[in-house]
Amino acid sequence: MPPTQATDLLSLTPDELDLALKEHFEARGQPAYRSAQVRRWIYEGLAPSIEQMTDLPVGEREALHDRFAMVEAEAAQVALSEDGTVKHLWRLADGELIESVLIPSRKRMTLCISSQAGCAIGCTFCATGWGGFDRQLTAGEIVCQYRASRRWVEKNERGPITNIVYMGMGEPLANRKSVFPSLTILNQGYGVGARRITVSTVGMVPGILELAERPEQFRLALSLHAPETELRGSLIPLEKRHPLPELLEALKKFDDGGGKRITFEYTMIGGINDDLALAPKLAKIANQVRAFVNLIPFNPIPYQDWLPSPPEQIRAFAAVLEAAGVSAAVRETRGRDIDAACGQLRGHTLVQLEKGRGSATT
Ligand code: SAH
Ligand code: SF4
Repeated sequence: MPPTQATDLLSLTPDELDLALKEHFEARGQPAYRSAQVRRWIYEGLAPSIEQMTDLPVGEREALHDRFAMVEAEAAQVALSEDGTVKHLWRLADGELIESVLIPSRKRMTLCISSQAGCAIGCTFCATGWGGFDRQLTAGEIVCQYRASRRWVEKNERGPITNIVYMGMGEPLANRKSVFPSLTILNQGYGVGARRITVSTVGMVPGILELAERPEQFRLALSLHAPETELRGSLIPLEKRHPLPELLEALKKFDDGGGKRITFEYTMIGGINDDLALAPKLAKIANQVRAFVNLIPFNPIPYQDWLPSPPEQIRAFAAVLEAAGVSAAVRETRGRDIDAACGQLRGHTLVQLEKGRGSATT
């Protein structure tokens, strides 16, 4: 929630922002270029506050401040991994903690952002799921992770952010009210190409259908993790609400949109979902929607004693997929030394904070 009742400038889409600023400055008898000035400060200057829009007269900054807010996150913690991965823990205005991760690779700098504080889905392999749900993020709170991360990479000369993935905390398509405007803001406001933005979902069918309707070519990552309903249901409680056959129908609609690419995320958990007999079933589903498959070694979490599948098992699984005509990649785990897996840094910090407060429970 924004700190005041004032309209959060960062939560508005560029069209809404233009309209709100036009009305505001017109009512104050100010020249039309004032709106463009503010717009530039937000999208190009990445100004962290209205005060820092220094080419506006002080009186105009004060007047803006009376009506509008800018919901910026404060860095509560930054963790740098030996492999170049950078994890930020952000403190929001109400004290809520969320995280984002910068992941450099040879040609890219991918920013992984959160869409909710916590997550209500409760997948059994996910640290965020075990932590439960706190609240929805506003569009501005989603976007400010990008803004603050961009300021960080610029200051630390880490090169531009090239890609954004909604793979941090939370289920993006369970927060469509904020996530859909945030896509528009990142794309139209900050100029991040739609094909460079990926929304990851555990299978929220209504959200997938809504994303399919959008004219932009945002990418979709579907966290599959199992090609059979029963096994999937034991890992992902949402499977019971939107079972695989229904999910596949939605994915087909997304694929029919043309030019839109689907990736399957498949976390490989030793002895749980890595049986080679599952690979042909996964290949069959992937072929139906022309999906690319990412095989990701499970990142151990404090709540389970599961281990990642051995590398040779993952390679053998990938080979079966490839033989069935499916493109697959084995992803390496990044930033393990800084707990860069979903939900983990926040988990540790909460434990530390609670200890600090002397709380004996939870
Ligand atoms: N809620 C969305 C996006 C956030 S989770 C979703 O589930 O898709 C982002 C990705 O991290 C998902 O693919 C999820 O399955 C994966 N993930 C969660 N916990 C993990 C773990 N312990 N090890 C490996 N991948 C994990
Ligand atoms: Fe939520 Fe995604 Fe974690 Fe499942 S994997 S609990 S949907 S964040």
